[in-house]
Amino acid sequence: MLIGCHLSSSGGYLAMAQTAVSIGANVFQFFTRNPRGGAAKPVDPADVEAFIAYAREHGVGPILAHAPYTLNAAGAEERVREFAEATMADDLKRLELTPGAMYNFHPGSHVGQGAEAGIELVSSMLARILLSWREAHGGKFPATSILFETMSGKGSELGRNFEEIRALIDATESKLGTGAQTLLGVCLDTCHVWDGGYDIVGDLDGVVAEFDRVVGLKRLKAVHVNDSMNVLGAHKDRHEKIGKGRIGLEAFRRIVNHPALSRLPLYLETPCDLQGYRDEIALMKGLRTA
Ligand code: FE
Ligand code: FE
Ligand code: ZN
Repeated sequence: MLIGCHLSSSGGYLAMAQTAVSIGANVFQFFTRNPRGGAAKPVDPADVEAFIAYAREHGVGPILAHAPYTLNAAGAEERVREFAEATMADDLKRLELTPGAMYNFHPGSHVGQGAEAGIELVSSMLARILLSWREAHGGKFPATSILFETMSGKGSELGRNFEEIRALIDATESKLGTGAQTLLGVCLDTCHVWDGGYDIVGDLDGVVAEFDRVVGLKRLKAVHVNDSMNVLGAHKDRHEKIGKGRIGLEAFRRIVNHPALSRLPLYLETPCDLQGYRDEIALMKGLRTA
């Protein structure tokens, strides 16, 4: 079972991997920089080297890098879009140092421009970054998978339903041409899809089938495991500890045992300290029957 949680990146990669192992995790997620934006600390090659050796020895991975919340490729202001593009390009460059890492980002908010215009802005940004990368790397795209996170539909968020995720993938791939088929994936956030109106409590099989029909299960690369403070379809996005919210423990038992989800890396993003995460990881492992 691949299970872990969000960790602070302040001590570097090796420290994150050691912390993960110390709480019973074998995967982890981290912010590439301050979640509210700003410059990233330079990557320390010695830390990366020590991390790679440690991760291999302890079976840690895949790791999931989360882009800052302020990254909005669909922003109305040019300054906002430029920050998004520069940040993502820089994040991808840094992630090339840690093979097997995946990159998760919130597709963005169209801030009143409409979903269609937003999707065009996001896909154009991704295409510019990836095509110029390919240009600079002898015809090769980045090794890091880029994941669109499913969103709750708060405000004008893109990715509020599976159709918008599909549209984001299609719009991006149509600009990339061939060779990009395995580059783009999806991270499904249980709190977000629940808040977005997908009944993973009453009909998990139906939601998974709907995802497969609209997006395709082969795109699903990671799951954010969070309970929700709010009711189905609330479009709020407030995470709760596992079993303490409206989704509830029994739904998570079905999630960790679902054949389409059980082999995926699961990342907790619940309001927990390290001890809380240690307990939740043990709880999640206990739910696994197979
Ligand atoms: Fe997120
Ligand atoms: Fe999430
Ligand atoms: Zn969230």
